[in-house]
Amino acid sequence: MTDLENVRELGIDIDATYSWSVGASMERFVRGLADRRLLGARCPKCSRVLVPPRKVCERCFVETDEWVEVGPGGTVVSFTVGEVELDGKAGGFKDLDVPVVTGLIKPDGADTAFVHVIGEADPREVACSMRVEAVWADEAGGALSDLRYFKPL
Ligand SMILES: [Zn+2]
Repeated sequence: MTDLENVRELGIDIDATYSWSVGASMERFVRGLADRRLLGARCPKCSRVLVPPRKVCERCFVETDEWVEVGPGGTVVSFTVGEVELDGKAGGFKDLDVPVVTGLIKPDGADTAFVHVIGEADPREVACSMRVEAVWADEAGGALSDLRYFKPL
């Protein structure tokens, strides 16, 4: 008989394909990225421009009703430097060859910020309030990756 009380870890490979329904607002946002445009949605009550756009302003609970182009410049609100990645084993890490800088970027004209990679940057020189601009993929694929990263100005 198997002792089930001592089962703490199972090694299982899972091959899962999935799709994610982004909704109407994110679909328009992604289509904007394909055209090298950052789009936000303005709230009719508080006038904030939400990026990425949301169908409903989370503060006012009213539907957004106006599309606004923002950026491509922006400001680093906060950031972190990643120097390790998962090694594919349970709980293990390995050093990255090149650190990855991830920032919270507030595009010009927006009242919110979103997380994206900061590229072409020396991690030691990235700072809050640093000015950055969008770097686009050479060929648009209709995906979030059409906005490759933000680089320092
Ligand atoms: Zn609002």
